[in-house]
Order: sequence, then structure tokens, then C-alpha cells
Amino acid sequence: MGPKRWRSLHPARLARGLATAVEAQGALLFEQTRATTVVPGDAERGSRPSIRTWRGDVTADAVIVATEGYTSLLEGRHRDVVPLYSLMIATEPLGDEVLGAVGGSSGVTFTDGRHLLVYGQRTADGRFAFGGRGAPYHFASRISPDFDRLASVHDALARTLVELFPAVRKAAVTHRWGGCLGVHRDWHPSVRFDRRSGLGIAGGYAGDGVSTTNLAGRTLADLVLGEDSDLTTLCWVGHRSPRWEPEPLRFAGVNAGLIAMSAADRAEQRSGRPSRLASAFGRLTGG
Ligand SMILES: Cc1cc2nc3c(=O)[nH]c(=O)nc-3n(C[C@H](O)[C@H](O)[C@H](O)COP(=O)(O)OP(=O)(O)OC[C@H]3O[C@@H](n4cnc5c(N)ncnc54)[C@H](O)[C@@H]3O)c2cc1C
Repeated sequence: MGPKRWRSLHPARLARGLATAVEAQGALLFEQTRATTVVPGDAERGSRPSIRTWRGDVTADAVIVATEGYTSLLEGRHRDVVPLYSLMIATEPLGDEVLGAVGGSSGVTFTDGRHLLVYGQRTADGRFAFGGRGAPYHFASRISPDFDRLASVHDALARTLVELFPAVRKAAVTHRWGGCLGVHRDWHPSVRFDRRSGLGIAGGYAGDGVSTTNLAGRTLADLVLGEDSDLTTLCWVGHRSPRWEPEPLRFAGVNAGLIAMSAADRAEQRSGRPSRLASAFGRLTGG
């Protein structure tokens, strides 16, 4: 299958723009304030939901948990979401000759049909930004900035980029980074709000959250305000995914899935036929 292409936006600028927009509306943002526990309210008994943080408690009419891959660090939510890592590289700015050989234009994104996802785009300053899966899941859903950089995965990404675009083989890789994203047990994102407890949650975007968060935010606004709308009837509203297995099953299962997807890609590349291993794992994981 040939590469698919889409247009992109700059997610860091989107986040900064959103922060500026909500502050202009009077919202207060508190950074560097880690929430540890989310406590449900009980509308029938007149108690409101609250959040315990390292710096104090916050009580509100509605509390929304939007911690995505980090949700597993909250008390009592260790098995709700698995943090999977996606890693990226960027090349140096490419000369006109290389850009001419590569074709396309900046901002156009691409991927292909492999099971262990890769994705990329040419940036406005003429680099390739290219990323993919393949980093291991860490026991007990651990998350650390150390996991954002893994030489073996970054090197594999550089090799894959050259396979897709041989003209970039001499380009230096100047940036390497990564981060975690949230995956539900059935790979199904969801948005929920429970009026009695005052708690809402959105997430499980499995790496596709840059625009989906916007839909989730607008949907949550309608749910919290009690407004029936087209958004509140969407199929992900109220969806409940099963919890992930306890450790060590979770560790074994998630990493076996990653290894199987990688093996399936190699087998398909050799044989040119769909991998049975991939379809067997797809049935098991819901992916
Ligand atoms: C390398 C990489 C590439 C990606 N590429 C794409 C892409 O091309 N397209 C796409 O759609 N998506 C992509 N994603 C996924 C996308 O970034 C996420 O789906 C999206 O950011 C989810 O938004 P969010 O606001 O729900 O969660 P996040 O952006 O993860 O934000 C969660 C926030 O919660 C805060 N937080 C977490 N725990 C706590 C706590 N206990 N207390 C207080 N605050 C807390 C965090 O600091 C963070 O600010 C990529 C992700 C990675 C890592």
C-alpha cells in the first residue's frame, strides 16, 4: 500500500494558544501541581467532587480527569490506561536537491499500512520529523523522562525513514524525543460524565488525541451543562473499557503484542501477504 497523506498542525502551538484563550476567559491554570487522588462527590448527600494535590485540595461542582497516559499514576486508577511510548526523530534541514527528490511539501503528513505504526511529515524549515511505536511498555505502567529517548528505537526510526525516502540517507538526525500516550484495554477512547459524583473523564486516544481532545472538550462541556446535543449522542460517550490485567500479565501481554506486530511487519515485507500473527493479535487486543 502506498503512503497515505494528511495535513498537520503544530500541537505545542495549539496547547499554548488554548492556554492563552482560556486564561483570557478568566480560567486559572496551575502548573507544577501534581494531583494524586480524585475524590468523587455525592450529589444526593450534597458533597462535591475534589482533587488532592501535592499543594492542597481543590473542590468544584465538576472535576474532569484528563491525564491521558499518566492516569495510571492516580490512586486507584493503575489499570484504567496503559502508557505506551511513541518516539520521534528530526533530521537536519534538507538541501533543495534532497527535497526535490523526496517531493511533496511541508506540513503534509504520511504513514503507511504497517502494524507497528510510523508517521511523519516535512517541517516548515525543510526537515523530516518522523516517529513511531516500538518502545517497550514498562512494568507497572512506570513513566519517566528517561523513557522518552531509547537509542535502539530512534536508530530503527532513522533506518525506516531511509527505507521510505532513500534520498535522506546522508541527512544527520539532529533531534530525538518521545512521550507517553494513553491506551484503553479495548483501544476505544471515551468521554464520560457522572452527574451524581460530579466526575468526568476523557481519554484513551491511543496516539490520536491532538484533534480528538477538542471533540472531547466540547462534548464534556455539553455533558457538564446537561445539554443534549449531537455531540452527547456520539458512540464514545459513556463507553466503559475493561480494565487492564494486573501485573505481571499486563507487562507480558503488552510487550508480546509489540513484538508480534514488529514480527508481522517483517513477515509481510518478506512475503507480501497479510500476516496471520497480526490478525490473531488484533482479535486479542481489540486493535
Ligand atoms: C511522540 C508523540 C507523537 C504523537 N503524535 C500524534 C499525532 O501525530 N497526532 C495525534 O493526534 N496525536 C499524537 N500524539 C498523541 C497526542 O499527543 C495525545 O493524544 C494528546 O496529547 C492527548 O492530549 P491530552 O490533553 O488528553 O493529554 P496530554 O497531552 O498527555 O496531557 C496530559 C496533561 O495532564 C498533566 N498531568 C498528568 N498527570 C497529572 C497529575 N497527576 N496531576 C496534574 N497534571 C497531570 C500532564 O502534565 C499533561 O499536561 C503523539 C504523542 C506522542 C508522545
